[in-house]
Amino acid sequence: MQQVVEPEAAGHMTPDEFRRHGHAVVDWIADYYERIESFPVLSQAAPGDVRAGLPAHPPEKGEPFEDVLRDLDRTILPGITHWQHPSFFAYFPGNSTGPAILGDLLSSGLGVQGMLWATSPAATELETHVLDWLAELLDLPAQFRSDGPGGGVIQSTASDASLVALLAALHRVSDGDTERHGVAAGRYAVYTSHQTHSSVEKACRIAGLGADALRKIDVDPVTLAARPDHLRALIDADRAAGMIPACVVASVGATGTGAVDPVPELTAIAKEAGAWLHVDAAWAGVAAVAPELRWLNAGLDGVDSYATNPHKWLLTTFDCDAFWVADRAALLGALSILPEYLRNAASESGAVIDYRDWQVPLGRRFRALKLWAVLRWYGAEGLRAHIRGHVALAQRFASHVAADARFELVAPHPLSLVTFRLRAGDDATLALMRRVNESGAAYLTHTLVNGRAALRLAIGSTRTELRHVDAVWALLSAS
Ligand code: PLP
Repeated sequence: MQQVVEPEAAGHMTPDEFRRHGHAVVDWIADYYERIESFPVLSQAAPGDVRAGLPAHPPEKGEPFEDVLRDLDRTILPGITHWQHPSFFAYFPGNSTGPAILGDLLSSGLGVQGMLWATSPAATELETHVLDWLAELLDLPAQFRSDGPGGGVIQSTASDASLVALLAALHRVSDGDTERHGVAAGRYAVYTSHQTHSSVEKACRIAGLGADALRKIDVDPVTLAARPDHLRALIDADRAAGMIPACVVASVGATGTGAVDPVPELTAIAKEAGAWLHVDAAWAGVAAVAPELRWLNAGLDGVDSYATNPHKWLLTTFDCDAFWVADRAALLGALSILPEYLRNAASESGAVIDYRDWQVPLGRRFRALKLWAVLRWYGAEGLRAHIRGHVALAQRFASHVAADARFELVAPHPLSLVTFRLRAGDDATLALMRRVNESGAAYLTHTLVNGRAALRLAIGSTRTELRHVDAVWALLSAS
């Protein structure tokens, strides 16, 4: 007979041990934030450095948790690029904050898997509730609230949001045929601008449409926003060739330059063609907590789906993308599958939401806890102050750039992203970025605007103050 192995033999951490090590971890994180400015923003590690500091083989015997923390300092920290550093200006921010971290810790502690309402009713209902709260805070149109045919869900990322929006679009435009028979090559087309994030092309590949199904809408050379007349021309040409327009993805705050597409005009064209309109506002959308920035929401009352990431600029530790649909029927049509082992009375009653049907994976973490913690800790007032502070700092930086004849601004900068370059050209611009990044004092990234290199300075760390913005300008302008 098989011998019974008692749980103690595994060496689980006892509640007392957990309490002790947990306090040490929280202290470690608090100390890290206090000393964060002592680190170079961009990790100076060379490829392979981190692995070279790790044992080649896993331990046979369990090790004390103190050793994990010791190695975190010794081996891991040198390989960290410090996203929470006040002089991190690269990409878009990835805010992590006290309430979000603690909310995430509670989620880990509860360890629930909220795939169905029945597997933890609170995980589903809190998520529905905080997404209604967030829709209210951002003043999103009523069609996204959960009390009608629409509603919100937390996706892992904006990339997932674009993918599920595309799957819902294909369901709707094919009347459910794509789920049964797949996507016939050359039948459906998707439209988005040259400025849109690459995740939309990836979604086309994953959905089986292939990258060739993606049409790139030209942008206005000054605003870098998608041109409605070009969208119309692309759709007309596809229809004339017998193709079906499935989905248009508009950007509100495109990655390279922060460009904002004319959503009302694009929506009107998409609607007329029978295509789904998804808005990717991954970074910028959350700025609508500030009433003076609600122009970002223009036209949303006509769109089919909308995504913005609290895990970028709204203080919520990765991962947390808020995704809303105006009518969930197509999303559920695209993604629901009901094997026998998931059947349960609550689902069959039709009275509950099962979020597994709103996303690609089955399993899901209790991510609403961290968003709930953030919204409650900061309140609308705190959220507005956070966004407004960064917008003001970006305007300050842009005024430095505008006043220096060696530099030029290359895109509108109404939020917290400033895109600029040296008039001396691409080589000089990129060399300047490399010098700043290698110094460790600040970190910024680049893009192409109208075919020419430009630097992006994205303000978004919770610790960034005027002195950090003035310091990065001093570095850039002294080089
Ligand atoms: N969309 C936009 C506009 C973005 O800026 C980004 C990332 O910066 C993404 C999508 C991808 O974000 P995620 O990592 O949430 O998929």
